[in-house]
Amino acid sequence: MDVMAANHSALIQLVDKIEQLGQFQDKIDFPASVQQIWEAFLEDIRNLIEVAGCALFMVDEQSQEFTLTQVEPRAMRDLCRNESDAQIELGIFSWVLKRRQPALIPALASERGRSLVMLPLATLKRTLGMVMVLTPLQASLVTQENMRLLAVLAKQCSLVMENSLLYEGLKKKNESLEKANKQIRYLAQRDPLTRCYNRGYMNEQLPREIRRALRYQRALSIALCDLDHFKSINDTYGHQCGDLVLREFVKSVNELIRTDSDWLARYGGEEFLLVLPETTLDNALPLAERLRRHIAGKAFDCQGEKVTVAASFGVTGFDRRPATDSVTAEALLRCADENLYQAKIRGRNCVVSGPFTPVTTAS
Ligand code: GH3
Ligand code: MG
Ligand code: MG
Repeated sequence: MDVMAANHSALIQLVDKIEQLGQFQDKIDFPASVQQIWEAFLEDIRNLIEVAGCALFMVDEQSQEFTLTQVEPRAMRDLCRNESDAQIELGIFSWVLKRRQPALIPALASERGRSLVMLPLATLKRTLGMVMVLTPLQASLVTQENMRLLAVLAKQCSLVMENSLLYEGLKKKNESLEKANKQIRYLAQRDPLTRCYNRGYMNEQLPREIRRALRYQRALSIALCDLDHFKSINDTYGHQCGDLVLREFVKSVNELIRTDSDWLARYGGEEFLLVLPETTLDNALPLAERLRRHIAGKAFDCQGEKVTVAASFGVTGFDRRPATDSVTAEALLRCADENLYQAKIRGRNCVVSGPFTPVTTAS
């Protein structure tokens, strides 16, 4: 009767332990860090076997090398390292991983009589690592039953760890994809030489600015700007110096405009378009004049040579209500170009401004 009662209580205890193991996943908030999974795992190991020290080795996916990732208690780090070095040298780690079964072996680097329980962490698809449990018990005192329970626990831990690592990996990949996409979007809109907006961006954005200004009855001005006698800068100082002047020109303009709303695009060659939303022609003219004066007064340093350049501006735009209903990007640009042409005729290095009126071409 006593034997039966003892068997019964042992069975109940076993069922309790199995039930507890079944709850391993519930203890962990997904996605969990390796550290969080390790802590939960360690707690369950301690419920099954007496632990003197415990170490987690993760396998590096590329090099397939083991890295000591966690040790408990910390003071046992050196001992665990010595123990694992000895076991790896004997081929024990790879033997255990190949068998995918826990193994009970004598400890080599610590006091005599201690044993190691090696728990492989692996799923069908992936080898994750190894847990090395140093127990003060002699191998003969570790029961088969506990080894089997540890095997179940290690399998559960492996699944949770694999899922979390997969999730983390995907999250990282997603983040770097998003970053790459952002970079692609940025580059697609930019002129490679000067980093201001390019013609493609201008073609998309200018009609939007016009639509917005018309819908909300807001002012909009634009300024076409062409560097004067730029060809002679290339001819005198070389093409590289010309490139540098273009870059510095853009930098100077960007320093003087409100870059949160105003924007500059490279229209082509040494010609740029400045778009000034919410800006009346009365305000656009002095701004263009300020830019012209600033550029003309600047000396660009081209490998020791001081290079000066002037620019001509053709400005146009409309206030709350344009004189005509049909404002298109093409018509606005044509009007600005006409004013720019006048500025060139007047001797360059000047600003010509006039309200938007569709330019009629003689038929
Ligand atoms: P104007 O005052 O009438 O505008 O005279 P310009 O010399 O500036 O005009 P033109 O159209 O005759 O010459 C423009 C020059 O701009 C010729 C071209 O080689 C140069 N250019 C265009 N794009 C670039 C570039 O990306 N880099 C360099 N260095 N030069 C460029
Ligand atoms: Mg020019
Ligand atoms: Mg030009």
